[in-house]
Amino acid sequence: MSDDPTAYSPSNGHKDFIREIIEADLASGKHSGTVTRFPPEPNGYLHIGHAKSICLNFGIAQGYGGRCHLRFDDTNPVKEEEEYVESIQEDIRWLGFDWGGHLYFASDYFDQLYEWAIHLIEQGKAFVDDQTAEEIRETRGDLQSPGANSPFRDRSVADNLDLFQQMKAGKFASGERVLRAKIDMTHPNLNLRDPVIYRIDHSEHHRTGDQWCIYPIYDFAHGQCDALEHITHSLCTLEFENHRPLYDWFLDNLPVPSRPRQIEFSRLNLNYTVMSKRKLLQLVEENHVSGWDDPRMPTISGLRRRGYPAEAIRHFCQTIGITKFKSTNDIGLLENAVRNVLNKTALRFMAVLDPIRVVITNYPEDQVEEMEAIRNPEDPDAGMRLVPFSRELYIERNDFMEDPPKKFFRLSPGREVRLRCGYFIRCDEVIKNEAGEITELRCTHDPETRGGENPPDGRKVKATIHWVSARHAVEGEVRVYDRLFSDENPESGDGSFLDAINPDSLQVIANAKLEPGLGKIPPGECVQFERLGYFCADPDRSEDQPVFNCTVSLRDHWAKLQARKKS
Ligand code: ATP
Ligand code: MG
Repeated sequence: MSDDPTAYSPSNGHKDFIREIIEADLASGKHSGTVTRFPPEPNGYLHIGHAKSICLNFGIAQGYGGRCHLRFDDTNPVKEEEEYVESIQEDIRWLGFDWGGHLYFASDYFDQLYEWAIHLIEQGKAFVDDQTAEEIRETRGDLQSPGANSPFRDRSVADNLDLFQQMKAGKFASGERVLRAKIDMTHPNLNLRDPVIYRIDHSEHHRTGDQWCIYPIYDFAHGQCDALEHITHSLCTLEFENHRPLYDWFLDNLPVPSRPRQIEFSRLNLNYTVMSKRKLLQLVEENHVSGWDDPRMPTISGLRRRGYPAEAIRHFCQTIGITKFKSTNDIGLLENAVRNVLNKTALRFMAVLDPIRVVITNYPEDQVEEMEAIRNPEDPDAGMRLVPFSRELYIERNDFMEDPPKKFFRLSPGREVRLRCGYFIRCDEVIKNEAGEITELRCTHDPETRGGENPPDGRKVKATIHWVSARHAVEGEVRVYDRLFSDENPESGDGSFLDAINPDSLQVIANAKLEPGLGKIPPGECVQFERLGYFCADPDRSEDQPVFNCTVSLRDHWAKLQARKKS
């Protein structure tokens, strides 16, 4: 990506406030290089919000010749973590970033963190509390009133050391005791009111197994891990702003080998979706979607399966920028980034999603012509493709109207249109079944318009439509998606966010008629169905039936796809 001229870099002057700070630190000699980290908790798949943080942290490493660590924040022993650890690495690589040899786990530092807890106890700065979680919460006070000291706060260093060692040795049940930092129960910042730093949990840990039954709290682990890895700038989202004084307190009171600086930025929010991993997990577990990689999910794996290019996600993250303002971005911005990339890269094909048969009565019964068509008008190197033309074709049902209103210029009785790279055809007759439904259109073509060229008499038509030769069509399944939630802010209502789920977010078209070349598109590749949108080949295909996911409409056809769905 270093060849991407729009990428953030010190040289193009395109800077956010974090890069300003970094450049000042480099200029003043405070740091000779940058070390950042991306610290996911392996309790779910990554989503588009994480992409913002990934692009920032890895982007800084690229822009300043520094490095970015991938550190799993696994201080919380929960189930199924291996699957998440794998998927997170796959997603970051797919986004185009690399941590080199710098893969770490917070659990790698459990021994060191334990020693530092002992250090605090020895300094009289931590104590074992026998109170229940509830008692601790009740005595914490609030923004108006100070908290109350724990009755166990003045235990001797010797007693604290002994009890903490017993905690580690598994002498107590989960939740029976905790280790707290001894700071100030009247501090205006609640995070400094003797925060819990170690808790007992007898669950199995995905990496350390049953080696530990005490685990450091996030706040006691994060800054220290940063210091151990010589992170220079520890970038996190705004909800950690109030934790920064505690982050600094630990660094001030422990013999850490380096001094990282925490800087907060606002998280990415998108309308029409939810972003918390807990809620995404609920969507998966309750089968509201087919899995973490369901193309309607805001997960990286879902967007990938939907056909969103990594480049578009990076561009989107760059466009929204890095600030401290809380805001919600329009999903349309992300969709536009996708269109911009796919317009340049996607090969064009014709596909008919709602077919109606057209018979060209003056075209020889067994003649087939290979029509030349442009593969991608945006990419001259892509060259030409051949599309078979024959007497019987399919066109979209909504490209024909028997009784057209004034502004409808496509096919109707007596009207002529251009078939893309085919011929001009005129509709002579409409065939209906007993129920009065149109089953077939009888048309004639003008042989002088081969390739869709204007005829010598200068006659013009007002519309060009797409088509697929009936005899050559590959049948495929096409999945058209609408937003997963009908509400712009699914979390705003009184009820559950699940109430905002759009019941019609997936429409499956079982027998779409596809240009033959579409049978050979490898899974993961995106193409344009001319006049309809961008579609991505799905791995979930059978031997002879491709499956395509609608990635995004061509801007002006979204309304049409929706209208078809509702009718
Ligand atoms: P969630 O609320 O979805 O569970 P999280 O913050 O708990 O998210 P982590 O795995 O802890 O998830 O996040 C890893 C990193 O990604 C953190 O540095 C976090 O600040 C960042 N991050 C998470 N969500 C967003 C977001 N919506 N926008 C920007 N950064 C985010
Ligand atoms: Mg988290």
